[in-house]
This record gives sequence, structure tokens and C-alpha cells, in this order.
Amino acid sequence: MNVYHFPAPFEGEHLLSCLMRYSTSRGRKEYVRVAKQVSTNVSKIECSCYWRTVHSDVLNQYLPKYRHQIAVNNTLLSVYSRFTHSDFYTLLIEQLALPHKLQLKYEKIEQLHSGWKWCPDCAVEDEEKYGVSYWRCEHQLSFKRRCSKHRTVLLSRCQCCDYAWCSLLQGPGPLTKCPNCGKHFSPCDRDDSDLDLWIEESANSILQTGFEFKKVELQEHFKAQYGFEEFKRQWTVAERKHITYQQDLFGKWLDTLDLSKHLVPLSNNKPYSQHPAFNVSAFTFKNHSLAPMINILFMRYCQEQLC
Ligand SMILES: [Zn+2]
Ligand SMILES: [Zn+2]
Repeated sequence: MNVYHFPAPFEGEHLLSCLMRYSTSRGRKEYVRVAKQVSTNVSKIECSCYWRTVHSDVLNQYLPKYRHQIAVNNTLLSVYSRFTHSDFYTLLIEQLALPHKLQLKYEKIEQLHSGWKWCPDCAVEDEEKYGVSYWRCEHQLSFKRRCSKHRTVLLSRCQCCDYAWCSLLQGPGPLTKCPNCGKHFSPCDRDDSDLDLWIEESANSILQTGFEFKKVELQEHFKAQYGFEEFKRQWTVAERKHITYQQDLFGKWLDTLDLSKHLVPLSNNKPYSQHPAFNVSAFTFKNHSLAPMINILFMRYCQEQLC
């Protein structure tokens, strides 16, 4: 349903943040009812999610001539598009027609933070500039850890009481102090390893369009290691040995990386090499849409070990 006076996004604002601002401006008690006038699909939306029905519902609040640009600037769909063969325009048309079509395999593994993320410095600046702070789109990319403008570590919860904005229906945010315990949010210090810096750089280049992901080329490198080109239903013993050998090499390399700040820990502290997301033959022979972090790790392995 279209509503009156739906707010235009601020610079870099996440599309769903516009819905939050629109709803909360109508008063705390009315919040859920007002949000549901725009979309009945407002529950269970992860901040780092690329597209759901609610995105289409909110985008439809704007005139058709603005929708494409808003989708580019104010959603993470363009991040997703870097890892597909479709151009952005085709992808957007598909998403608007079938919002649930976009499914990434193993996306949960990179959703380490359930809360919406924000930069405490941006929150202060935005409040001064616009009278309100808001959720920025690029901060919600799951493996983005620092604000590009301030280099501040992004927050996803209160360091004092663990309060987090996990739901769209939780009221206004991000604030400069915690709505639960009242403590002021302060920037936190963190030392970044080389790997952390590389992941941050990758996140930035993905966000800034300077990133090219050539999956077919990566698959060719793996195929060259195996010595065979095609996926088969039944492998010979020799072929299976090759597959196991390459899997072991990749697994050993992967487990030298400290990914604990970027990926959800596995049960019983199992190493990430045992997660099905990191199955080398599936990456090589099947064309699943994988969560970006998995793709960039395969890319790094190819660059470091196979090229
Ligand atoms: Zn900032
Ligand atoms: Zn708190």
C-alpha cells in the first residue's frame, strides 16, 4: 500500500531505515501498525539481508523513475549483483517480481552480528546535520567492520548491557546512548590483523563497484588442479583421490586464517574447513549463489596458492 509523505532516503541511508523513520515519527505506540501499512513482511529481517518482500514494498513507495537509483544507492542488492552474471537492472526487475527469488547458500555463516550496525561518529554527525541519525546501508554489509569515513569500528550492540537493534520494529536508532541502560556509546579500539584489513578492503571495493568477481576463472584454476573438467555422478577412485587431496590442501590453508571476527563459530569449535560452504568440488563444479565472504575466500586461495 502506498502511504503519504514517505521519507526520501538520506545520503547512504539503508532503504529499510526510511521505513523505521517513517514509522517511529508516528509515535511509539503506533509504530508496528504504521510499519505494517507499508509492508506486512516486516518481521525477521536481518540487517545484512540482500532482498526480501519488505524491500520491494518500501521501494514501491517511491515514484517509478527513482526506484532504480534508490535500489543502487540504498540497498545491498548491488553487492549481491557483483557475484552474479545478471546486470543490476535485470536483477532488480526479478527481485521486484519475485522478492524471495534471491537466496544465497550458507549466508548464515557470515551473519555474525544479528543487530543493525552503526558508527558512533556518524550517529553524532547525522544528528547534528539532519536532526536524526539513521542506519547506513554500507555499514550493514555483513563483513564490513569499520566506517569508511571515520575508520571507527562499527557497533552492533551496547558494550554494557548487550542491547541490540535486531528488529525493524524496535523503535528509532541508532542513538548516541543505549535506550536500555542509558550508557553513552563510545568508539571501541581494535587491532586489525592483515587478514582483517584485507577483508575490510574487499568489503570496500565490493561496495565501491571497483570489484570484479570472475567465478568461471577461479573454477578453471581448480579444474586444472583436478585434471578434469566436468562434474560426474560417479567419480573413479583416482578422481576421488584428487578431490580429497585438493580439499585437504584448501582446508589446511583455510584453517591457518583467523576468521573468528568474520564468521559464525561452528558447533563444538570445529574448524571452518569442515563446513560444507568450503567444499572445493562443489565450488568448482556447481553454480550455487554463495554468500560473498565464501566467494572471496576461494578467490584469495586461488590468488595465493594456485596462480
Ligand atoms: Zn562514521
Ligand atoms: Zn546498554
